[in-house]
Amino acid sequence: MTRMPFLDRRALMAMMAKTGIGAGALAAWPALAAPWPRNIVADPRFADYPFALGVASGDPAPDGFVIWTRLCPRPAEQHYGMPRAPMVVSWEVAAEESFAVVLAKGEALASPELGHSVHVEVDGLSPDRVWFYRFRIAGQVSPVGRSRTLPLPGARVERLRFAVAGCQHYEHGHFTAWKHIAREPVDFIFHYGDYIYETNEKGAQTLTIQGHDFPRARKHNNDEPYSLDDYRQRYAQYKTDPDLQAAHHAAPFWVSFDDHEVDNDWADRWDQDGTPPEVFLYRRAAAFQAYYEHMPLRRASMPDGSRMRMHRNARYGDLVNAFVLDTRQYRSDQIGEAEKLPGGEKLAPMTPAAYDPARTMMGDAQEKWLFDGLADSTARWNLIAHQVMLMHLVGRGNGGAKGYNMDRWSGYMHSRRRLLSHIDKACPGNVVTVSGDAHRHYAGDVIQDEGAPGSKPAKIITSEFLGTSVSSGDDGMGELNTPQQLADNPALKATIDRRGYVLCDVGRDVWQAELKVIDKVSSPGGKLSTYASFAVERGDPGVKKA
Ligand code: FE
Ligand code: CA
Repeated sequence: MTRMPFLDRRALMAMMAKTGIGAGALAAWPALAAPWPRNIVADPRFADYPFALGVASGDPAPDGFVIWTRLCPRPAEQHYGMPRAPMVVSWEVAAEESFAVVLAKGEALASPELGHSVHVEVDGLSPDRVWFYRFRIAGQVSPVGRSRTLPLPGARVERLRFAVAGCQHYEHGHFTAWKHIAREPVDFIFHYGDYIYETNEKGAQTLTIQGHDFPRARKHNNDEPYSLDDYRQRYAQYKTDPDLQAAHHAAPFWVSFDDHEVDNDWADRWDQDGTPPEVFLYRRAAAFQAYYEHMPLRRASMPDGSRMRMHRNARYGDLVNAFVLDTRQYRSDQIGEAEKLPGGEKLAPMTPAAYDPARTMMGDAQEKWLFDGLADSTARWNLIAHQVMLMHLVGRGNGGAKGYNMDRWSGYMHSRRRLLSHIDKACPGNVVTVSGDAHRHYAGDVIQDEGAPGSKPAKIITSEFLGTSVSSGDDGMGELNTPQQLADNPALKATIDRRGYVLCDVGRDVWQAELKVIDKVSSPGGKLSTYASFAVERGDPGVKKA
């Protein structure tokens, strides 16, 4: 990335004095020209609009954020309508949507090696305010994205709002939830993963989900991905969705991946099919690169072969310290494959193996990073944003047999116990967790060691708001299984099988959360409503009906 001065310093200072924008932007402004590759396309021309995949921003800091785009004029074609050579894209950041005064700008490289994606780490901006950004190339201008810098770490912050969403199966339904999220007044959006699904159900007109038939809303346009370009095609298809683009244009994202960005239920080096680990890692490397290419991620998250750093932290002033986890890359392989209950999806009876201290959900390094971060945190609240359910809920297979989902924290009970003990010790009463993956809303209390051999009386340690899916699971079955699940699980306070998202509104003493639902996603135009509202009081863990 380079930045070029475009106004003289005196004019800029005068303008900043008028608009109240700090001088930090100017002070941190390097004026350098990159040595572009010699094979650069000096005068690019595109047959179609090159910004067909929209723009995005993410990983905000007090002085900036990442802005993203990918040049992709023909998303459905091989090579995407792009020449096999690099080119230069220019970018601009302004305080108003009109771009009347451009406060930062520069040029960035779009390389074929990275699918002509562009990641710019904008810095030097003032904290705690809205910014607008756009890209240009060959006389074409991208859509305008809206982002926001973080407050300074010590600043007093009264209120923080964010949405929690993910699990967006293109074939299962329309991304109507994203359209509604784009209209919410949120400071950021947390994506808990399953940004794409790697499946291809080979043209069936009907989807059978948990024994129920649903019409297939849309179709994937390529086969199950294994190579980098297979995954690129899948992202290109998803990224053309206007509702998904609208959400990215509206607010910065903190993204994280779960399993379907690579393969269903993968864990570290192991896929679900028993592929030799050293072979599966080639697929993981391809999937990670494509993921990086399509997400507004910092260079620190750029993959190194089959590894990428995804656990990271953000401080929203003195109000919220947010920890984004990676619960796929470092976890032990799932247990209970052989004991799965018939008709119970991933459910298996509880086994002592789940309490094996050698099993890990986060890996030692990430766990230490999180535990140190929580121990050092002085924020009013701490947010743990992760992928799979932390509540230890019992489910039922065919015939009513009880079982636990071994892909969730229930399969990693000793890891879970360590985490909850640490929360109880380091920041009692001020941690809230959000997650996803379950394709139903779940809100409830997170209790230490319920049901464990020799466990003490139940103690509520924290609270969990698990967002349903944007589209996975099609229109859903509403409250069909809700009474049974509530009866089986006293810690659970609400659950429903509809598409939607969670909206959090965090104040200094009360953390509010709304479970948002859409009545249907099998056709566009689904109606939004609030299924349930909850509050968590600081110092008193557990969710209460609001
Ligand atoms: Fe999912
Ligand atoms: Ca998942």
